[in-house]
Amino acid sequence: MIAVLKPGTDKEQIDNLIEWFHSYGLRTNLSEGEFSTVIGLIGDVSRVDADLLESLEIVESVMRISEPFKKANRKFHPDATVVEVGDVRIGDGSFPIIAGPCSVESREQIVSVARSVKAAGASMLRGGAFKPRTSPYDFQGMKAEGLELLLEAKKETGLPIVTELMNAEHIPLFADVDVIQIGARNFQNFELLKEIGELRKPILLKRGISGTLKELLMSAEYIMAGGNDQVILCERGIRSYDSDYTRNVLDLSAVPVLRRLTHLPIIIDPSHATGHSYLVEPMSLAAAACGADGLIVEVHNDPQRAKCDGAQSLTPEQFAAMADKLRRVREAVGGPVV
Ligand code: PEP
Ligand code: MN
Repeated sequence: MIAVLKPGTDKEQIDNLIEWFHSYGLRTNLSEGEFSTVIGLIGDVSRVDADLLESLEIVESVMRISEPFKKANRKFHPDATVVEVGDVRIGDGSFPIIAGPCSVESREQIVSVARSVKAAGASMLRGGAFKPRTSPYDFQGMKAEGLELLLEAKKETGLPIVTELMNAEHIPLFADVDVIQIGARNFQNFELLKEIGELRKPILLKRGISGTLKELLMSAEYIMAGGNDQVILCERGIRSYDSDYTRNVLDLSAVPVLRRLTHLPIIIDPSHATGHSYLVEPMSLAAAACGADGLIVEVHNDPQRAKCDGAQSLTPEQFAAMADKLRRVREAVGGPVV
């Protein structure tokens, strides 16, 4: 249930109303937006008399929320959430690009890729240190050393870093990481989601390979229920029946659908969605055109020798050419340019 308050309601009146809700054992979510103030109620709202609530002087309207996701719901928070990472803002209408290799492989590799993607206009650096691999015999990442190298690349370039966390026990190692990624394989690892809900750090939450949009939002809700509301959603392709030519199926309709349902920013990963470098540019342009808030793209200085996901990695030159076209698409659709 939400209560939309009348414009001009003062803080004391809001506090009183919130206290009243708390006396029913409810949790509240206050959203003070540019145009409206909304109090969202979480818990057993059956004891609240909606007619009584609506009759209060300061209440404009009352609405029941049928969706199971509450804090992530746009009805609870009508204004878009803007996640800030240093100077980068995700969700404010700009179009930041996170770029970098699938995995951190060496100091030279990560620093070189960081420098080239920065020169081409990327706003953040990605790179896996702990890698979720389908086979236990494949490269598992450089782990703690990989995190150190990412921090060195950050020091060299100033780019904030995004990297995947797979195990809550590793959280202390991630203290200086700017954005923690929860990958497709862990998107419903609820214990892990609860742990990162306790952090006050941006989380990039990827959709699972067979995850519905509602499930994605419920996973975001797990993080937000702990008090961490800095969640960025990421569509990275879902599994369907035809994987002969694409690794997954990129569900771009997720962007406008999620835009309606949630206030959280939504970015696209065209690399894992398609599995092929030649498909990354067209899908990125489409993502920019359909209103995504940004991209996360794999770029490698030497894709042929990449330890992981070389086939879907752009070269720095390809990335620079794509970034240029993206600027033009953003201009054409009327959104602010990178
Ligand atoms: C990744 O970003 O490196 C990754 C493993 O992605 P996903 O979880 O989407 O497969
Ligand atoms: Mn990868």
